[in-house]
Amino acid sequence: MKKLPLHTQIIIGMVLGLVYGLLTLKTGIPSWITIDFIKPIGTIFINGLKMIAMPLVLASLIIGVANLGDISKLSRIGGKTLISFLLTTVIAIVIGLVLVNFFKPGEAIPASTKDNLMKSYEVAAGTRADAASELKEQGPLQPIVDMVPENLFQAMTDNTAMLQVVLFAILAGIALLQIPKSKAEPVIAFFDGLNEIIIQIVTYIMMIAPYGVFALMASLIVEIAGDNPDSAVELLLALLKYSLIVLSGLFLMMLVIYPLFLKSFTKVKYLDFFKAIRPAQLLAFTTSSSNATLPVTMKLTEEELGVSENVSSFVLPLGATVNMNGTSLYQAVAAVFIAQALGMELTLGDQVMIVLTSTLAAIGSAGVPGAGLIMLIVVLESIGVPAAGIALIMAPDRILDMFRTVVNITGDVVVATVVASTEGELPDGMIRKKNPFTANESVQELN
Ligand code: ASP
Repeated sequence: MKKLPLHTQIIIGMVLGLVYGLLTLKTGIPSWITIDFIKPIGTIFINGLKMIAMPLVLASLIIGVANLGDISKLSRIGGKTLISFLLTTVIAIVIGLVLVNFFKPGEAIPASTKDNLMKSYEVAAGTRADAASELKEQGPLQPIVDMVPENLFQAMTDNTAMLQVVLFAILAGIALLQIPKSKAEPVIAFFDGLNEIIIQIVTYIMMIAPYGVFALMASLIVEIAGDNPDSAVELLLALLKYSLIVLSGLFLMMLVIYPLFLKSFTKVKYLDFFKAIRPAQLLAFTTSSSNATLPVTMKLTEEELGVSENVSSFVLPLGATVNMNGTSLYQAVAAVFIAQALGMELTLGDQVMIVLTSTLAAIGSAGVPGAGLIMLIVVLESIGVPAAGIALIMAPDRILDMFRTVVNITGDVVVATVVASTEGELPDGMIRKKNPFTANESVQELN
């Protein structure tokens, strides 16, 4: 029998996980069965991916920079990459702001529901606020200070400190371009080898992807419902309008802005593009983590889209850490929504401030689940909205995180494709080099 393609297997896993989760709730199967016996499969899967995220960022960025060959190429590609990151991020924020100001979802919440929401999520919001309170007390330049690790090895043990490792990797890559070739070559060869090993390990981990995704979905449903599924549903409904606005913004990015970018700068057809990175998008959806998805994103971008390793290993690890279009859009919508709900008027100056701080907050958000919510506090602080207001939007956050992570990684691949095309790669659109995960699917079948 012909083996199903990976993305189909992942979709089946997701749907079965969803159905299983809902059935458990309906039939009253105790949640510990799912949490103790099914969730671990998902945890193993996601841990496996996280395990390789840090060495992958280190190795691929070092060789990504070093393989560019000279500083002038680095500044050209680096410049294009950063401009594209910034442009897509600002577009995302502006879309979010236009939607939330037009539809004003925050004004629709009845006072009683607002109180309920605040009450039910106060404690959780308090914890998040604590996590972010340090951010509050710091000066405006602290994010830049935080980029420089005191101790590289310490930074490498913390997946949320990816930006610090990114900085080191870029410096190491630049240094490799400037030291004598005889010294640089063995180091580059070492990291090249490490990179290959990691990519190979991805293939192993992806073998359990459908089961991992099933387990993640099932346990997510059971955990979101908690002890009181009805109240979860009630709260979710109250926040439906807000969620729909975030989702429409995210869909606009996916269906209008990214196709426009690809059409303007590349010969790659959007449908082909979409098909090529589907497994990574599904993975981003179920793991809510750009970092965990990164190994798969890189593999598909190189092997399915045909972007060179030079470009992909520079743009993608950087993008997974700093380019978060979905997160920045969501932060803008959430900040205005909370202000509306609390009855606060925002001036034009406040809105401009949101553009600025959401850009920075998205850069500072680690590619891990829920990071965007914590960094949202920075945005709220900048416009004088009480940080406790995040209590209002916590209920649907886990779900929205899934969608915004898909946009985050898609934005990274769009930029990688644009940079590759403007560098003269992909002259005839997408080139499918080899099939990364399913050996029995031939190139001709898709093209
Ligand atoms: N989960 C997101 C990511 O990993 C970050 C966030 O918005 O929370 O890309």
